[in-house]
Amino acid sequence: MNEMQLKFLARSENEEFARNVVAAFSLSLNPSLADLSDIKTAVSEAVTNCIVHGYRGEEGWITLTCKTEGNCLHIEISDSGRGINDLEQALTPFYTSLPSEERSGMGFTIMQTFMSTFSVESKSGEGTTVKMSKDFGAKAEADAG
Ligand code: ATP
Ligand code: MG
Repeated sequence: MNEMQLKFLARSENEEFARNVVAAFSLSLNPSLADLSDIKTAVSEAVTNCIVHGYRGEEGWITLTCKTEGNCLHIEISDSGRGINDLEQALTPFYTSLPSEERSGMGFTIMQTFMSTFSVESKSGEGTTVKMSKDFGAKAEADAG
């Protein structure tokens, strides 16, 4: 078991920073390139949502927590922004509250598809937390020896 937590500002340049931190942290689990690509994509989507929707371009903190457990990587990404009123609607593929900005409404669907588990908790006016995990499977165990 290993764990890390990081707090960074909701700025677009930190999207790349966050996904590279998660990739670096996961290396002890010996992920495949495909696994690495999946978790980086999912983290990018979650962090972008905090910046674009949670804080709507205003200043705020994003908290990233990562934990390893066996062959599994657990990731939590939280903001203290606007929150989500209708979670079911938000999770619907192609739904976006910002169609004018040419968002496709696929961020949550991508996270769900690319990760092994995925869930969202949100309270209107208080913020949003995305929890997801990736199981790197038997390969990680075998390679780690
Ligand atoms: P895309 O991710 O394809 O650019 P999108 O961000 O609108 O488009 P999703 O990432 O699936 O699509 O999110 C769906 C909707 O959920 C958003 O349009 C927004 O209304 C809401 N949402 C998602 N994340 C947050 C968040 N952190 N805070 C507040 N609202 C959010
Ligand atoms: Mg999105």
